[in-house]
Amino acid sequence: MEILYKSTRDSSKSVSASYAIIKGIAEDGGLFMPDQFPSLEISLEELSKLDYKGVAYEVMKLFFTDFTEEELRYCIEHAYDSKFDTEEIVPMSFVDGAYYLELFHGSTIAFKDMALSILPYLMKTAAKKNNINEKIVILTATSGDTGKAALAGFAGVEGVKIVVFYPKGGVSAIQEKQMVTQVGDNVKVVGITGNFDDAQTGVKNIFGDKEFNEKINKAGYRFSSANSINIGRLIPQVAYYVYAYANLLKNGKIEEGDLINFVVPTGNFGNILAGYFAKRIGIPVNKLICASNENKVLYDFFESKVYDRNRDFILTTSPSMDILISSNFERLIYLSCGCNSDKNIQFMNDLKEKGVYTVTDEMKQFIDESFIGGFASEDMVSKRIKNVFDKTGYVLDTHTAVASAVYENYENSTKDDTTSVIVSTASPYKFTRAVLSSIDGIKHDEDDFVLVDKLNELSGIDIPKAVNDIRNAPVLHNTVCDKEDMKKEVENFLVL
Ligand SMILES: *Cc1c(COP(=O)(O)O)cnc(C)c1O
Repeated sequence: MEILYKSTRDSSKSVSASYAIIKGIAEDGGLFMPDQFPSLEISLEELSKLDYKGVAYEVMKLFFTDFTEEELRYCIEHAYDSKFDTEEIVPMSFVDGAYYLELFHGSTIAFKDMALSILPYLMKTAAKKNNINEKIVILTATSGDTGKAALAGFAGVEGVKIVVFYPKGGVSAIQEKQMVTQVGDNVKVVGITGNFDDAQTGVKNIFGDKEFNEKINKAGYRFSSANSINIGRLIPQVAYYVYAYANLLKNGKIEEGDLINFVVPTGNFGNILAGYFAKRIGIPVNKLICASNENKVLYDFFESKVYDRNRDFILTTSPSMDILISSNFERLIYLSCGCNSDKNIQFMNDLKEKGVYTVTDEMKQFIDESFIGGFASEDMVSKRIKNVFDKTGYVLDTHTAVASAVYENYENSTKDDTTSVIVSTASPYKFTRAVLSSIDGIKHDEDDFVLVDKLNELSGIDIPKAVNDIRNAPVLHNTVCDKEDMKKEVENFLVL
């Protein structure tokens, strides 16, 4: 079955998977969506006998139908290799009544590696298939983790340049150091005076700037995206939901067909949407529990049908979830209104102009069948990290702790005893300051790398290579610009 992709803002045109990956975002500003949901071609029982790469292939072949088996297997082999510190790629730990699906064993120790390890291979293959001769310029807005994972994936890749914009002061010290020490002459890292939403809007504006696109085309370039608006990121993420189910089945923790819950710490709604895709292709999912931090736009939506970004942006200890405009939510809105792009456009225009929209009862019903929202305050996150550590010795990062705290509440209030998987999105070593303070109750003002050693002493968990590598690395990027000047920075980098 061939799957084609349509923009959420224009149903009249379809493009191939490989073309959608190259474009990143549709010309009309919409996001690409598959025109139908395929179904897994082998049984859950058969899936449980495959390793991560095998599962990834079974998932990706359903959606990337214009790639050959050889091409997909090549991309998968090169992505999920020794860059990961465990052969399992995504190990699961059973801690205090729930399974933690650890997605942070890749080279930048956050879940963004799951898709950004493979995106460069998919993009190179896609460019070849579509006879693209221009150099690809990847523009990326990051709330902290996408930036480094994209830089690590694309640094040194021939025919590609990459610019990363991050909110100056809005990411953890380790996250920033990871980015500003990035080596490679095809990379540029820029801090902006603004928050993540500003960075993301700025990038989207550049994608939508016709004149500027023509100008860079003349100079031999074309833009693409490494954000989760690119289906080349979304689809590879579906694989670990399928793998989690298959793994529980393999280990006798569930029976074939049993429903499970996933609890997902959410920002841009990319990770949890991949979980929804897993459900649609045949994984038995009861609820996708959407966990927000104090920027709880999504929680409020699930409570009320109203998406309202008109509120203060809060800087929390889970910076990768500090987001008020969750880009991928547009994809769910589109599905929930029957893939009607005209209706979707109205909601997105309201969001742009008034910062708020209200969905219909039918749409809300559709969404409630699969999703439920929860949120955790800073205090709850901190307490959860401490409690889990005291009880079990397992150390949660701040993002995973949001999900864990939300799950604890959910379990207490619903008495739902469905097997639950908490999606663990980062290593605690990325957020050492907040994690340590939660555990020992001290407000730490030491250097971040001193804190890394302290956490190592306290927890006995090996310090990841990703952290040791940047300890003494020189800072190579120190550009900071106003959010209005992002385009100018791109021009400078491309020497236009
Ligand atoms: C990006 C990120 C999230 C949020 O994921 P979305 O796909 O944006 O919802 C959560 N935790 C960590 C550690 C992240 O890096």
